[in-house]
Amino acid sequence: MQLNAIYLYVVTFIYYLMKKILVLGAGGFVGNHLATRLKQNGCYVVGIDLKFPEFNKSSCDKFIIGDLRRLDICEQNITTDFDEIYQLAADMGGAGYIFTGENDFNLMHNSAQINLNILSLAIKNNIKKIFYSSSACIYPKHNQMDPDNPTCSEQSAYPADPDSEYGWEKLFSERMYLAAAKNYNIQVRIARFHNVYGPLGVFNNGKEKAPAALCRKVAEAENNTSIDIWGNGSQTRSFLFIDDCVNGILALMQSSYGYPVNIGSEEKISINDFAKMIIRIADKNLSINNINGPVGVNGRTSDNTIANKELNWYPQTTLEQGITKTFLWIQEQVKMLATAN
Ligand code: NAD
Repeated sequence: MQLNAIYLYVVTFIYYLMKKILVLGAGGFVGNHLATRLKQNGCYVVGIDLKFPEFNKSSCDKFIIGDLRRLDICEQNITTDFDEIYQLAADMGGAGYIFTGENDFNLMHNSAQINLNILSLAIKNNIKKIFYSSSACIYPKHNQMDPDNPTCSEQSAYPADPDSEYGWEKLFSERMYLAAAKNYNIQVRIARFHNVYGPLGVFNNGKEKAPAALCRKVAEAENNTSIDIWGNGSQTRSFLFIDDCVNGILALMQSSYGYPVNIGSEEKISINDFAKMIIRIADKNLSINNINGPVGVNGRTSDNTIANKELNWYPQTTLEQGITKTFLWIQEQVKMLATAN
């Protein structure tokens, strides 16, 4: 380990040691990984979610199954006991969930209701600091038309024009968190995540995102066949490995930066090239069949200028390293499912 990494590790450990933390959405992909890391850092962690994590036993000291849209559930569980809250609960999914239009009302209503409840209880109970997970989906569509040159710097968010209702809700909630910090004695830390992926994420329930869906398709495909990819495959994205995402959350919470900040990777790749990378990792001979489907904007990648400067945070995992770990995990799940059937 380099000297800087050891220093950061020690500083983070001291910051978190003995803290009492509430993780909302602790049964979800990021919340589950985050809870594990907070436990490793010596925190007492309480999690709330509609469900337990699907693929592992939660690391939380206490896990409450509860619906955060219900004010009574929030009143019972968001109490003065906690040093910090990490809010990751949201109604969300990949392109097949967000961009079809079929879930628009639920996406907006459910997540807004959750955030309204949580913030009012956090303010009432004098919680000192709260983390909110926003999204790259807040960025305006018109800045992401060119797959080779998308603009996603934090200041480009306005004038606003997200390409999904999911993005509009995130933007509204960002503003509500910022307003809470302005009017009340609560510090807010807001991350705009860009496509987080890794092991222990959903891969086959209709809410999976591109990296998990591609890994599953490649794992399931017979050699010398093809896989379907939505769109013409020239759309570009960047993908952030979960360990780097959790590092980013912890760095943001320890910082004094009170505005939205990108937590993503700057390693941009087209979806077809990403699929080819996974096919190579799988050591299979598969062709790509580009078909019609929901794709979102033409190009999107993180701009980490502020995260580098304000948080001293840099992703450590290359896409090839991260997707290799993820593919091997999904391949194992696919094999287990096939055996069970
Ligand atoms: P996820 O869907 O795996 O986790 C969200 C969790 O919230 C789920 O476990 C779900 O059951 C829970 N939840 C939903 N409604 C709830 C309710 N009414 N009461 C209690 N719990 C409820 O998503 P994730 O990938 O872990 O994302 C975490 C956060 O980060 C979300 O807010 C998401 O919008 C945001 N985000 C994620 C990504 C990404 O690539 N993963 C990108 C941008 C933003």
